Amino acid sequence: MCGIVAYIGGKPARELLLEGLKRLEYRGYDSAGIAVINGGLQLSKTAGRVRVLEDQLGQDDRFDGTIGLAHTRWATHGEPSDRNAHPHEDDPELGHGIAIVHNGIIENHAALKTYLMDNGHVFASDTDTEVLAHLIGHFYEGDLEASVRQALREVTGAYAIAVVCAQEPDVLVVARKGSPLMIGVGSDEYIVASDASAIVAHTNQAIELDDDTIARLTTDSFRTSTLENVTITPQMRELEVDLEQIELGSYPHYMLKEIHEQPEAIRRCLKGRVSARDGSVVLGGLNEFARELGRTRRVVFLGQGTALHAGMIASYLVEGLAKIPSRADFASEFRYRNAIIEDGTVVVAISQSGETADTHAALREASRKGAMTLGLVNVVGSTITRESDAGVYLRVGPEIGVASTKAFLGQVTASVLLATWLGRRRFLSPMEASSMLETLNTVPTLISRVLDQSDQIAEVVGKYVQRDNWLFLGRGVNYPVAMEGALKLKEISYIHAEGMPAAEMKHGPIALIDKGMPVVVVATRSSQYEKVLSNIEEVRSRGGHVIAVATEGDDSIRNICEDVFFVPDVPEVLQPLLTVVPLQILAYHAAVMRGHDVDKPRNLAKSVTVE
Ligand code: GLU
Repeated sequence: MCGIVAYIGGKPARELLLEGLKRLEYRGYDSAGIAVINGGLQLSKTAGRVRVLEDQLGQDDRFDGTIGLAHTRWATHGEPSDRNAHPHEDDPELGHGIAIVHNGIIENHAALKTYLMDNGHVFASDTDTEVLAHLIGHFYEGDLEASVRQALREVTGAYAIAVVCAQEPDVLVVARKGSPLMIGVGSDEYIVASDASAIVAHTNQAIELDDDTIARLTTDSFRTSTLENVTITPQMRELEVDLEQIELGSYPHYMLKEIHEQPEAIRRCLKGRVSARDGSVVLGGLNEFARELGRTRRVVFLGQGTALHAGMIASYLVEGLAKIPSRADFASEFRYRNAIIEDGTVVVAISQSGETADTHAALREASRKGAMTLGLVNVVGSTITRESDAGVYLRVGPEIGVASTKAFLGQVTASVLLATWLGRRRFLSPMEASSMLETLNTVPTLISRVLDQSDQIAEVVGKYVQRDNWLFLGRGVNYPVAMEGALKLKEISYIHAEGMPAAEMKHGPIALIDKGMPVVVVATRSSQYEKVLSNIEEVRSRGGHVIAVATEGDDSIRNICEDVFFVPDVPEVLQPLLTVVPLQILAYHAAVMRGHDVDKPRNLAKSVTVE
């Protein structure tokens, strides 16, 4: 959510910053802006996409400097517009030429704004960010780092910021608290960005800035310190992302690319972790805590959106395979509900980016209350991975599509591994585990079989794409799959869809069903198959049109459903890994047919770093 990129070094900053913005645009695309120091502060910004900014800049030689910063916004305070676009300046009357880009929310912006206005400041935007820019200017006495430090001490909320000042043309100051920021270290140059995608083209050495830390960068020096000005030595690490992984290649959209990458992604997630022969699972990240985890009495999965759906599946798996009480909860609700953490509770935070603000905050709360914390995270080195006691990486590769697909499958796969790992320390027999893991190893190939049906799915979607209301139903582990199918459709096609347990429909939502309403039902062979068939009949009796996801070989389902997508037969616990795939493809085609920008859905952005 929101992309920041900043540069200091010997190269032309403009090209580098624009290229970085394009890579980060999936994090926010309400507006874009750039500031470069070149004989004073040069600033250009606009509502809309990065390419609009690029056109606006043209070859204007005022932007030929070698230090600068840029931003692509996901608005929190103030509508998306030219004036609210970042960078924001301090009060021009003061003549400092300070510019800032910000990701996060300055929560006490109203009080600070009143104070600054009482001191004569005039504001040019409606953003919380501009208040911070003015505050830095207010404290500025010739030392940018000192004034940033002083300003940040007055601020509550979350931020990742980069700041430049025309009066100190060789200095770039960056800081973070609660929002992501990393510093790519090149030779005599630094590229600061919200994530690795804007850095890897230039260097694979990076520093992950800790919370409440400030860094002062010049071309040949580097210092990080706490808000109290205590120098700290951060750890350098190698970025594992390579450029090819974040390129679109021959696909029209990242979402489609990532849907098709799922077989390979799951192979990578499983690699070296599964020993089907003896029914064991190796999760290196958990070894250190094996004894403690062996005493787990409850597992709580926390997430938001797609990650929560994976958590709901995970809770079924932990109860089913490990026989440990488990539930899933919205991280945002858990955090403020004053949840009870009993002895032996393990809290698992699920987040693709590892930066989701709600999930991060809930994880901290759980830890404060004494829970052991684990992270199921994709991005290596991200905040949640650093703050949890241990974890399992998804290893599915970078996910750029705003609507999550392969990360969801990675989260479910990692949950199967975690549940089996826990189960094997309790009641799950090697034999039971062994046969399930054997099938798990074949899942990547089975996913490919589902992907082959893309054209047929598109044909079905074509029949109903004009319908504005859809229902998604499932039972057991496939109930969260129904939720996920509905979410995908909402996110990218803007069709109203609801997912729910199939049995819940008759308790109210059935009133929505009218002639021809599309109702997608996951009706694979399972312990509740017969019940699902009854639910299908209930829909049909009221004129609803059922699109079923069924098990290969179940020809009888064709007698009651005209449109069926088939998935290979696997044990119930593994079914979500297959049943969700047609629903992803369905949502993708619906969005394309409705003419929407699949990778940049309205109002959304990747990696939600505000609460
Ligand atoms: N709160 C700031 C704004 O609305 C920053 C939003 C962002 O992270 O993009 O401008």
